[in-house]
Amino acid sequence: MTELLLTGSSHILLMNDGGRLRLPKEDEISIPEGTETFVFPGYKAAPINAVAVFPPECVRYGLRESWEILPDDKYRAAAKGAELINWSESELFCSRDGHRLERASEISKRCPECGHEYFPRLNPAIVVLVLKGDEALLVHASTLRNPEVKTLVAGYVETGESLEECVRREIKEETDLDVTDVRYFGSQAWPFPYQLMMGFTAKYAGGELRFADGEITSGGFFSPDDMPVLPTMPSLSRVIIEAWRDGKFSNYK
Ligand SMILES: [Zn+2]
Repeated sequence: MTELLLTGSSHILLMNDGGRLRLPKEDEISIPEGTETFVFPGYKAAPINAVAVFPPECVRYGLRESWEILPDDKYRAAAKGAELINWSESELFCSRDGHRLERASEISKRCPECGHEYFPRLNPAIVVLVLKGDEALLVHASTLRNPEVKTLVAGYVETGESLEECVRREIKEETDLDVTDVRYFGSQAWPFPYQLMMGFTAKYAGGELRFADGEITSGGFFSPDDMPVLPTMPSLSRVIIEAWRDGKFSNYK
């Protein structure tokens, strides 16, 4: 049975099934005819605000927080569904001639006038764990909501640069440090919104910490047994920090 991903930019609809929250099945909630949906194996995604009447067992739940209760594959499907819905609601017109776009496939739209095809956009971003001996660099960015949280240096990839160049540039701009031995760790879709996070590690190579450009307000090198407040799972930053605390980079000094 297909599962329903009724989502918006930050929420998803779940069913309270005798105290256990789960995704609704297709036959449990009727989606009004004409609603734009996205179908991929096992799932159908639709905008949460298209449904007028919900069964009483329904619960609106934070999309990001649903990671804590949904199995990983279902959480990732929910994230994908939310991304497609967001994209569909925001990419409405051809940027060349202003005509209203039409659906061309499950992941694209086409302009009926000029034929240009549009796909969901992604903003590639990096996070990097800078290692200095047994310590790692954790910083507080002014954009973080919790003033106590310290996390990895992060930033968006700019046009014309490689991921490794982006890693070195972001560290230099935000902390004035030089690094070497930039290594890829792994990636994660991060639909809050439209981000593809790519994680790296790098080795400290010189310089004094300075938070010159104002994006970072505090930070320093921390040892694994003296951690500040960390970002929550399932963020890639936290995954990398936990891998480091588990000794995954111990041969990396
Ligand atoms: Zn066009």
